[in-house]
Amino acid sequence: MSATAPSPESSAPVVTPMLELRDVQAGYGPFRALFGVSLSVRQGSVLALLGSNGAGKTTVARVCSGLIKPTKGKFFFEGRDVTRERAYRLARMGIAQAPEGRSVFASLTVEENLTLSLRRALGRSGAAGGLARAYEMFPPLSQRRRQVAGTLSGGEQRMLALARVLADPPRLLVCDELSLGLAPIVVDEVYRTLAAIRDAGTTLLIVEQHVAHALSIADDVAVLVKGRVTYDGPVAEMGDLSERLLPTGEARPPSPNGQ
Ligand code: ATP
Repeated sequence: MSATAPSPESSAPVVTPMLELRDVQAGYGPFRALFGVSLSVRQGSVLALLGSNGAGKTTVARVCSGLIKPTKGKFFFEGRDVTRERAYRLARMGIAQAPEGRSVFASLTVEENLTLSLRRALGRSGAAGGLARAYEMFPPLSQRRRQVAGTLSGGEQRMLALARVLADPPRLLVCDELSLGLAPIVVDEVYRTLAAIRDAGTTLLIVEQHVAHALSIADDVAVLVKGRVTYDGPVAEMGDLSERLLPTGEARPPSPNGQ
């Protein structure tokens, strides 16, 4: 639950964001990738972090997962300064990074992969219920429950990897390029699942090059250009800014009728 406190001037509560970066600089050795990035993700919302190749999106995701430490600036989780916390501690607090690629045990079946994660997260007694939920979220996995994971298609393996993370839904899920290398129909499936996860209460930070998909479920959007935030606000108010801010030209938010 996000901490709330009444503001002295008004009755509107001041809501602490679930995640907040304040003026973060970060990079790799002497190379600086982020130049004073500030952004926040409201509890229960979806923030799409957009930008072209090399803009710094993955670096932001790594900062949020604790894999890279800022050289300057602060990182808060639910109002707590976690700038110096190790990645495993952040994971314990409820921040999970959706695995890139195909993080599955290739020689185990779909069901064995899921059961391993579920037992670790929920214990033996909770695993059966978790398995049912996973199959409900990902019907294609249900059809392939006895298939060895290494023989699944790339998209199915991505789906299984995501399903394993979601055995124990995190409080904040950081997704980095989930659609990469997936057939459009599988991407649709993955995004439907992300929407279901959001509806179940998980806050999402989605890093994507596939703008249309990210915007289809995002509440807010932040645009990175060369390590700096050039737009940060609700998707609904993004308007024509999108074309100016994103070099790909793919940035138009979906129209109300979905065309
Ligand atoms: P893409 O969409 O292509 O993955 P991105 O927006 O995610 O790009 P980052 O991966 O965060 O961008 O990279 C930001 C900058 O940092 C780029 O100039 C990149 O070359 C550089 N960079 C990324 N990873 C490393 C690394 N391990 N070592 C050195 N420089 C890196």
